[in-house]
Amino acid sequence: MKRPDESVVRGAKASPQALPSVDRLLRTPAQVNLLSIHGHSLVTQQARALLDGLRTRAVAGTLPEADIQPAVLDAALAARVAAALQPRMRRVINLTGTVIHTNLGRAILADSALQHLLAQMAGPNNLEYDLAHGGRGDRDHIVEELLCQVTGAEAATVVNNNAAAVLLTIAAYAAADRQRTEVIVSRGELVEIGGAFRMPDVMASAGATLVEVGTTNRTHPRDYEAAINDRTALVMKVHTSNYTVQGFTAEVDETTLAQIARAKGVPLATDLGSGSLVDLAAYGLPREPMPQEKLAAGCDVVTFSGDKLLGGPQAGLIIGSKAAIERIRRFPMKRALRMSKLPLAALEATLMLYLRPERLAQDLPTLRLLTRPVDAIQALAQRLQPAVAQAVAGRFEVSVVSLLGQIGSGSLPVDRLPSAGLALAPLQKKGSGRALDELATALRSLPLPVVGRVAEDRLLLDLRCLEDPAPFTGQLPALRQALGVA
Ligand SMILES: *Cc1c(COP(=O)(O)O)cnc(C)c1O
Repeated sequence: MKRPDESVVRGAKASPQALPSVDRLLRTPAQVNLLSIHGHSLVTQQARALLDGLRTRAVAGTLPEADIQPAVLDAALAARVAAALQPRMRRVINLTGTVIHTNLGRAILADSALQHLLAQMAGPNNLEYDLAHGGRGDRDHIVEELLCQVTGAEAATVVNNNAAAVLLTIAAYAAADRQRTEVIVSRGELVEIGGAFRMPDVMASAGATLVEVGTTNRTHPRDYEAAINDRTALVMKVHTSNYTVQGFTAEVDETTLAQIARAKGVPLATDLGSGSLVDLAAYGLPREPMPQEKLAAGCDVVTFSGDKLLGGPQAGLIIGSKAAIERIRRFPMKRALRMSKLPLAALEATLMLYLRPERLAQDLPTLRLLTRPVDAIQALAQRLQPAVAQAVAGRFEVSVVSLLGQIGSGSLPVDRLPSAGLALAPLQKKGSGRALDELATALRSLPLPVVGRVAEDRLLLDLRCLEDPAPFTGQLPALRQALGVA
């Protein structure tokens, strides 16, 4: 005799006719409650989608009757409504060892920036309103004076991000006069930063004619001198922030280049990418070019990012001479690239922190994390090791390790940051790749996702950016459960 089909033994299948209508589903007490909280639109839409999915399975004969019990339907609908209201933007715990991680939102804002942002966005403000005279103002006024104070610049303006700052600067010089469209850049500086932002393409979209000088490894003053003519709109220097050219190399520094440009009567702009408004060497960190030095060297315009080493919101900062900034500010493209009031509030509060440099390493999270002593990170790793070991017991061995992290975001690509953390190694060498995948997925699936990195058959959790361990340790029971550790 034929053995009965297993699924038939486990339970009968529901027919499409057995499914309730949307109306009937929404009349149960649980749904009436859901409707009173969320209103009609969302709950009905989700009820319809839920029933559509169940109907498809019922028609295919694969829907167990158990799945359409009233309590099960109620729970399924409540779960769908909750999922629809779960924001896609989620806080995560960054244990990658990269402090300014572009994929994880770059710099985290200082408390004062968060507070200012929140307070200013809760009502109208003087974004473009001159309170002294009662008329229209310019939004640049919010940060221009501060930026000049901190950098020594004559004038400053801000745009959406540094890519926009570079684009706008080039366009303001190269697209304004048909007779002068050439922008001179060293072949060693034709950078590509993430997200298809390549210097030659930026030149083209800004309406500039790129004039490459020198070679990949060596560019000399005479290369620039020979290239400057009456079609030159701008000489441009680009900080090679995400790579280094080593060996037999030569580049022309801004001081020399400024003399050449000035003698020929053409402007000089430099794009620093990250740039740092404080001397990182004073904090024991690798040095990064400072915008104020580039101005002092004679650059007419300096551009840099708001959310890299500056430690603020996404923004493109443009500082320079009065004439240069006036030209850039008046170029029509500026309107399309202008900063929103949200990051502008955060930028103002962030820049204000630079007025008190003695407190910066405490008040600015980016600098605080970058200067965190390795001993303290190591001690935290020691302290967390037993609890983490317990959560993954029998599956992974957990050891305290010295690590090398990164500043990130293209700043200082070759310099590594000595750090410490935990290494989780699969106990079973066979299938260790799969075990590591499972662990990384389990960590990312926690309510507050944890992002580490996998290297050399281990999952590494760099603790430099874990200032408050409680949200991490509080999730260890959930991790333990996800991994099925008894
Ligand atoms: C990061 C970077 C940019 C772009 O800055 P965003 O603020 O990300 O737009 C431009 N130039 C260089 C050299 C960079 O490193």
